[in-house]
Amino acid sequence: MLGTLARRLRWLGYDAEYRRDLPDETMMQIARDEDRLLVTRDRSMAGRRGLRSLYLPSAELGEQIEAVQAAIGLPPGPPRCTVCNGDLEPLGHAEASMLVPPYVAATQTEFARCLRCHRVYWPGTHWPGLQSWRALAMP
Ligand SMILES: [Zn+2]
Repeated sequence: MLGTLARRLRWLGYDAEYRRDLPDETMMQIARDEDRLLVTRDRSMAGRRGLRSLYLPSAELGEQIEAVQAAIGLPPGPPRCTVCNGDLEPLGHAEASMLVPPYVAATQTEFARCLRCHRVYWPGTHWPGLQSWRALAMP
């Protein structure tokens, strides 16, 4: 339910895990073990003891981002992979050219690659108002 928020937070540089395949108890355990802030739209889950949590009353993305930023401050780092939350490393143009479509290699100069899933990113206009990058799935 909060997948869009998770991707946008990664984009902004937050280390945001998103798991919708796990039972509530498991997610809460992971949040405790990894000292994460559990962000949820489930008020009863947010109220559990021994858990750092943030309840989001709004379904609107901008308001959700503001609530997260109010709770934990500015992003701790550079953009992260929006798909898997991995760290991005700069990728040289020569190497990137072999991985992206020709028109991208011809028009872009800046690339980054996810260390975990190896997706390649480059600047784009997908999310106006942010420096944004488009992902290309690897074969
Ligand atoms: Zn990734």
